[in-house]
Amino acid sequence: MSFSLLGLSPAFLKLLEAEGYAKPTPIQNQVIPVVIANKDVLGIAKTGSGKTASYVLPILHRLEQTAVSTYREPTVLVLVPTRELADQVQQVFQTFIPALTGQPTCLAVYGGVSINTQMQAIGKADIVVATPGRLLDLLEKNAVRLSSIATLVLDEADKMLNLGFKEEVDRILALLPPRRQNLLFSATLSDDLSQFQQLILNAPQVIKIAAETNDIELIHQLAYLVSEEKKGPLLRYLIKHGDLKQVLVFASSTLKADAITHKLLKNRIHAAAVHSKLGQQTRCFTLQQFKAGQLRVLVTTDLLARGIDIEFLPCVINYELPRSPKDYLHRIGRTGRAESTGDAISLVSPEEMDHFKVIQKKMGIRVKILSGDQIDVQGY
Ligand code: AMP
Repeated sequence: MSFSLLGLSPAFLKLLEAEGYAKPTPIQNQVIPVVIANKDVLGIAKTGSGKTASYVLPILHRLEQTAVSTYREPTVLVLVPTRELADQVQQVFQTFIPALTGQPTCLAVYGGVSINTQMQAIGKADIVVATPGRLLDLLEKNAVRLSSIATLVLDEADKMLNLGFKEEVDRILALLPPRRQNLLFSATLSDDLSQFQQLILNAPQVIKIAAETNDIELIHQLAYLVSEEKKGPLLRYLIKHGDLKQVLVFASSTLKADAITHKLLKNRIHAAAVHSKLGQQTRCFTLQQFKAGQLRVLVTTDLLARGIDIEFLPCVINYELPRSPKDYLHRIGRTGRAESTGDAISLVSPEEMDHFKVIQKKMGIRVKILSGDQIDVQGY
């Protein structure tokens, strides 16, 4: 299938080509025509499947088809669980908005930054991408009305439920017009989610895309058995010796992430940390830099293991193992996305080896383990 056969207007095709989207991903193939037909969708797909564009493209296509109202109020609302995802979704909208003659505006709103500029801008935005809490703050301040919302997207709905956003989302839903299009995306289909889905969706088309584990085949996994004190030099050896250009390193704590970053910088490797103890602006800036290929190493905690997409990230390194096998999968899943391959390397100390065996067993995988202590890392 090609994008031109999905019913999108030709103006999108040029932009898709410029973005390197040669052909639609499986979820795009299925979701785009259904959204264009104004039907509800329940999409079971994770980040990395191309799900964002699967709703962004047809929503924009439909905006172009509908007449612009005389008074401006948001007509599209996307609810997301995290600030990072809000920025990411907004960027995908911005990428494809130039295909439209009407040039709608898209605004991302989330907490942790000043509300004032958001208050001024939100009422005039056509598309709002929001975390639930900040949107409620803005509604309380009468900065925006939701009575013209024609399309609602709940992205990473399972995560919103896990993070306890259910009540906030319910309050927002009560303010939306009952006749609207609903698109709900989730990585998993839990019992909680099915209650949610029954409340929101109207005879939805259910679209399920291959489970997360299938993408594992695109990831080359490798582990080094290495003593704790040699992990730092081995990390720097792997980066320098392997000439790695863009590496995401996972640490077990914010303190550890800072310490690893400090050591990398001391060894003249361009690195920065992103974690929950840093301000939102620093986090956004560093992430942007890393995504743009202007930062060689990004060191983080499990904060970034879910949801965030970094295009064609070639390498993920676990400086320490995560606690749960699921988190291992989320971490290594940052690479090997949208059909490109990637490397996932774990530095495993002898004390962590039993835990690593448990992870492999639970995930049904076998990772090749090399001896890190035999590598000459002197000078690194
Ligand atoms: P998502 O699942 O929306 O987080 O998207 C994952 C990544 O795949 C993003 O970096 C997109 O830019 C990229 N992507 C989305 N659709 C396509 C496509 N059709 N071809 C190539 N890359 C894509």
